[in-house]
Amino acid sequence: MTTSLFFLVWGLATALALPLLLPFYARGGVPGIEAFTAANALAVLSLLAYASSEIMPPGAYVMVSNAAWLAAVSLVYVGVRQFFGLRPQALRAALAAGCAVGAMALMLYYENDLVGRLTLFSAYTCVLMLATGIVVYRQRQRIRTPGVMLYVLLSLSALAAMHALRAVVYGGGWVQVSSLLDPAPWSLFFIVCGSVTVPALFLALLLLIQTWLSEQMQAALTFDSLTGAYSRRSILDELERELQRCARSQARLAVLVLDIDHFKSINDRHGHATGDTALRHFARVVPKAVRASDRFGRLGGEEFVLLMYDCDAANALVQAQRVCDALRDSPLYLQGQELRMTASGGVATYQPGDSADGILARADLALYKAKELGRDRVEMAWSGRAPGRPQAAREDVTDLAAETRA
Ligand code: GH3
Ligand code: MG
Ligand code: MG
Repeated sequence: MTTSLFFLVWGLATALALPLLLPFYARGGVPGIEAFTAANALAVLSLLAYASSEIMPPGAYVMVSNAAWLAAVSLVYVGVRQFFGLRPQALRAALAAGCAVGAMALMLYYENDLVGRLTLFSAYTCVLMLATGIVVYRQRQRIRTPGVMLYVLLSLSALAAMHALRAVVYGGGWVQVSSLLDPAPWSLFFIVCGSVTVPALFLALLLLIQTWLSEQMQAALTFDSLTGAYSRRSILDELERELQRCARSQARLAVLVLDIDHFKSINDRHGHATGDTALRHFARVVPKAVRASDRFGRLGGEEFVLLMYDCDAANALVQAQRVCDALRDSPLYLQGQELRMTASGGVATYQPGDSADGILARADLALYKAKELGRDRVEMAWSGRAPGRPQAAREDVTDLAAETRA
């Protein structure tokens, strides 16, 4: 009776993860969620079968419990592989579980070999948890939130270690066992360990799912989904932060606003999908032409911005010109057709007291000038006090780019 109660508590503790997994299952879109949910339900069934040992025929509850557990650990392995986008190896796992269940049935109905069953059960669990742990360890870079992968690895290792010990203690003949329901010290020890490690495993899987979803959401806010460049929101946040840093430490900052030339005609001539491909191409070419530390984002449509850190006006113009040259020299090939693109740019450098709107407005003004002057060129916004000129009351644009090129 005491042992059945322990199994009941263990089963209920494991079932706590089920209502948390089910919404993800119903919503879909999380790889491996079907396997994780089924694994949890089967683990609960396995434990509740032992809890109801007094009301079920012995042959039935043992087989139900063993088969459900072996399927559960196999599904954890398959689910984790699916979660990380690997081949699930479902057939291999199903074959392994089927063979183990067959061997269990033989040992139960023909030989009544309890020790053999215990050893096979624990060895199978240990191997599957280790295999799952290896998958998680190899994919550890995929989740960046600190501590999550460690928790998952620890929960898998704890379950594997407990079953390794169980296989050695019972299989090695160190401890005689007549029934798992005997409240013997070793039996109770493994039940207590199991009632911690099994719920911990499912909590770890839940943590993995939650973290993955929140990292995906964060990435969706940070990066533009079409081009992979920084999103408008994150690049403007970064610009604000950088302006504050400039104000504090007199650092230098240059902002280049880029606009693809005649982009509408690309859409009109080749279709919107090709226009999207052209935008992705642009977002691949530009970062390659500039310093790795510079930050490139999409302001909207075919308008982009490049933040050039610690960069003075002359340097910024050279960099901006390099961007235009790189784009001109990197045509997009579409079904053998060559699609050449150009862009115009406006550069503004940090002036004390600048706000994000202010510096972007100056760069925009310079961009319009570049468009007016024929496109495929860069213009420099000038603001502040010119030598020999009165204090500038308005933002002005000079054709420094043309001078630089000359
Ligand atoms: P200009 O040289 O003066 O900049 O001319 P333009 O044709 O590049 O500029 P305009 O503002 O007339 O057209 C921009 C076009 O960009 C219009 C809009 O349909 C298209 N566009 C905006 N966002 C997207 C997008 O995400 N994908 C695609 N394919 N087109 C887009
Ligand atoms: Mg344009
Ligand atoms: Mg535009």
